[in-house]
Formats: sequence, structure tokens, C-alpha cells
Amino acid sequence: MEVKNLTCVECPMGCQIEVGLSNGVVEYVKGNTCPRGKLYAENEIKRPLRVLTSSVKCVGGKMLPVKTDKPIPKDMMMDLMSKINACHPSLPIKTGDVVIKNLYEDVNLIATKTIE
Ligand code: SF4
Repeated sequence: MEVKNLTCVECPMGCQIEVGLSNGVVEYVKGNTCPRGKLYAENEIKRPLRVLTSSVKCVGGKMLPVKTDKPIPKDMMMDLMSKINACHPSLPIKTGDVVIKNLYEDVNLIATKTIE
């Protein structure tokens, strides 16, 4: 049995979670104080998810900070960066505007700053 220790990042409590694995399969999850922690731990073992943050060069050269509006699989980030790097939106853009719709499945890339 392999044991992995994780810190749940789903809320500020930061519960310490222990996951027991047998041949890569989750046998048990303990240390979580709510069901979100169990789901987080299972996903973290199977396919970790993260919010991607980056910046894109707008037409005219200004840099716009962006992020995905939902977490995406960590192993997809490099592939998606080539799409992001090829994107050069026109200004003005407001915080929350969609820069790339459905960047990955139903996850959009959105602006995190207003630039005139
Ligand atoms: S297990 Fe639940 S309470 Fe603990 S950090 Fe995760 S979300 Fe928060």
C-alpha cells in the first residue's frame, strides 16, 4: 500500500489529507473534514486540476493578464499554452471578458484586468 499526503486547497482550512493507494487505485481517503476534500484528493491522484494563469499580447503590444474561469487538467496546460500564445486580442478589454471561448471543453480564458 502506497500512502500520499496532500493539503486540500478547496478552502482556507487546508486540511491535511492522507490517501491510501493500491496499485494506483484509491483505497481510502482520510483527514478531510468534508466531501469536497475527498473529491479533491481523488481528482488530485487521478488527474490533477488547476486554474491556468498567463498573459497574452494584445494588438498594439500591451500585455493582458488572463486565467481560465475553471480549473483544467494540469497535463493539458502545455498544449493550451500554444493556443493562448497565438491569441492577440484587440483592446479595450474589461476584467471578466472572455478572451478565448471554450479554450478547453467548457472552460473559457478570461481577462483579469481592464485595459483601454
Ligand atoms: S476537506 Fe473540506 S474543510 Fe478541509 S480544506 Fe478541503 S474543502 Fe476545506
